[in-house]
Amino acid sequence: MSTPHPTTRKRKGPRPKHVPQRTCVACREHAAKRTLFRIVRTPEGQVEIDPTGKMNGRGAYLCDQRGCWDRAVTTNVLARALNTELTHETLETLRRFAASLPDTEPAEHAASVRSTDHA
Ligand SMILES: [Zn+2]
Repeated sequence: MSTPHPTTRKRKGPRPKHVPQRTCVACREHAAKRTLFRIVRTPEGQVEIDPTGKMNGRGAYLCDQRGCWDRAVTTNVLARALNTELTHETLETLRRFAASLPDTEPAEHAASVRSTDHA
């Protein structure tokens, strides 16, 4: 899957413009380094993952750390950010999406486990 990214224009010359900051609702990290996914509450009241970032509605952001998505489904941080309640279906969708994200466990540990496993 490709990571959604706003159209990148070549920046030329010093032109300090206010860039809208996105913050992950779970870990409160800013978008600077991480990729954030937009979750939107549509005017119809549906909560959906918005890969284009262009859907109408109230948006909230989660970064690409699985732990943040876990947090979004186990706590009400996302529901609160969207000012709505997450339905069972929505939670299921979020959980499934979280499962597709890379694990957040330390890579060093995972590597050592894997190598001893194969030896
Ligand atoms: Zn996060």
